[in-house]
Amino acid sequence: MKMCAQDIEFTLIRSDRKTADIVIERSGDVIVRAPTGIADERVLEAVADRALWVHRSLAEWEDLNSSRKLRPLVQGQGFVYLGRSYRLKFVADAHVPLRLKNGRWELSEAFVAREGEPAARKAFRDFYIAKGLEIFKERVQRLAPLVGVVPGDVSVKELGYHWASCGAGGALNFHWKTLMAPHTVIDYIVVHELCHLRHRDHSDAFWNEVDKVLPRYRERKEWLRVNGASLDL
Ligand SMILES: [Zn+2]
Repeated sequence: MKMCAQDIEFTLIRSDRKTADIVIERSGDVIVRAPTGIADERVLEAVADRALWVHRSLAEWEDLNSSRKLRPLVQGQGFVYLGRSYRLKFVADAHVPLRLKNGRWELSEAFVAREGEPAARKAFRDFYIAKGLEIFKERVQRLAPLVGVVPGDVSVKELGYHWASCGAGGALNFHWKTLMAPHTVIDYIVVHELCHLRHRDHSDAFWNEVDKVLPRYRERKEWLRVNGASLDL
């Protein structure tokens, strides 16, 4: 349900939970989660109480997202992989549309001429998805025993404004854009999702679980909050 308090438009999601919380989604949407029984006026009060924080967070979100634009596909342009930027080099003859070789992205000139720029960007996405599948499968296998869970299938795909999600049967999905983040941040994303197999919410119990496996998770979480918007092509 859409509601508004103190100039803050938000979506209210009621569920079987004990406390209310407010989050700014990566899309910039304000989401309020509240217990089923709580009256609308109480929800509005709770939002009004935190209005200052919400306005500040939204302003910060604007800042972090305003610099977002597509990187032009030109020679020398940097594209990030696992936290490092590599420059783009157009190559005349190539068997694959795109590869990372000798510290350079090699993009086939013929491929771009033939298929166009959207296809070239898709080649980047395909690269991240293919590499990401190997990396995430390995990290999930390594980290799952530390969390004490048995996850299902791992996939890497487009997840819109979510870095990761978990489905029925413990299936774990990761956004291909996370492959631009450093390894340490990827591990945080994996542990976060694995801990959701124990706790579906972001309760204290959930964060305690994350903390047990990654005691320094806060700085990685913060890195993602600040740099998340820049993880794009
Ligand atoms: Zn989560």
